[in-house]
Amino acid sequence: MSWSDRQRRMLAAMGVRLWSPAAAAPPAVAAAAVAEAAAETAVAERAAEAPAMPLAAQERPAVPAPVATPVRAPAPVAPPARTPAPAPVPARPVTSIAAAAQSVQDTLADPLLAERAAHIATLAWGPLHDAVAACTACGLCATRRQTVFGVGHARADWMIVGEAPGEQEDQQGEPFVGPAGQLLDQMLRAVGQSRRAESGEGREDDQAGDPSRRVFIANTLKCRPPRNRNPEPDELARCEPFLKRQLALVQPKLILVMGRFAVKQLLQSDEAIGKLRGRVHRYEGIPVVVTYHPAYLLRNMPDKAKAWEDLCLAKATADAL
Ligand code: SF4
Repeated sequence: MSWSDRQRRMLAAMGVRLWSPAAAAPPAVAAAAVAEAAAETAVAERAAEAPAMPLAAQERPAVPAPVATPVRAPAPVAPPARTPAPAPVPARPVTSIAAAAQSVQDTLADPLLAERAAHIATLAWGPLHDAVAACTACGLCATRRQTVFGVGHARADWMIVGEAPGEQEDQQGEPFVGPAGQLLDQMLRAVGQSRRAESGEGREDDQAGDPSRRVFIANTLKCRPPRNRNPEPDELARCEPFLKRQLALVQPKLILVMGRFAVKQLLQSDEAIGKLRGRVHRYEGIPVVVTYHPAYLLRNMPDKAKAWEDLCLAKATADAL
């Protein structure tokens, strides 16, 4: 029912409020409202079904648009701290045969040294021992604890020539001590030779026993080079008269040379021991057999078999004389 304006005014004066439905919306607008309400309902349902978004993600602030960062010129890179250059290490002198030979020539050319060598060549055992103990002919006298003269029978059939004293030899004053010396003693015992003989009640007597079963052991150098460095040609040349005199006094039937520098000194050869071993050489007419130094054998056990062959060659050579 609809009311006229006049009726409305009368009813309002009577205090009666009239209800009237809202004006009906046009059909198209109503349909859009229904569709929008359905869409909102669907979104709400999907949101309810969707897994909860991590809080951090929910609270993540909007990412601001990237702002172009001005290209900054690279900071100058400081040059790496310069490591102080290591102190130059003096090159280890290479003792070539040519250098050694030249050194011997120089030594012989020096009248004082030639006179010294000639004097040493006349010494008997006692004065020779004293001359070695007091020697200051090369710089090694400044660093040695003591000289290492040699040990064994003064007329032994075998003479063993080694290189230079090591630390233990320098301490004890005897060549071939310590593990290398023990190995040498074992090797010598295996072919019936010994550096010492025992007489009486275990008393050691270097001149006792059969000289054919004894050895005399000496080194080419009588003083230890510092830190066991290689001997220098001048040192070898200045010490050589002592070894020559020992060889002349012992007059061995056989010389067994052990180690590179001993081989160079006696045979004047630059060849490797591996090439020189296995045959008999000569030093002033005396047979010479070359073999490895026991200190080397301790580090290279497979070569012990070769050293054993060398000892057998030495024994066969000495027995045949
Ligand atoms: S190494 Fe020989 S020459 Fe040199 S100081 Fe010793 S004993 Fe003398």
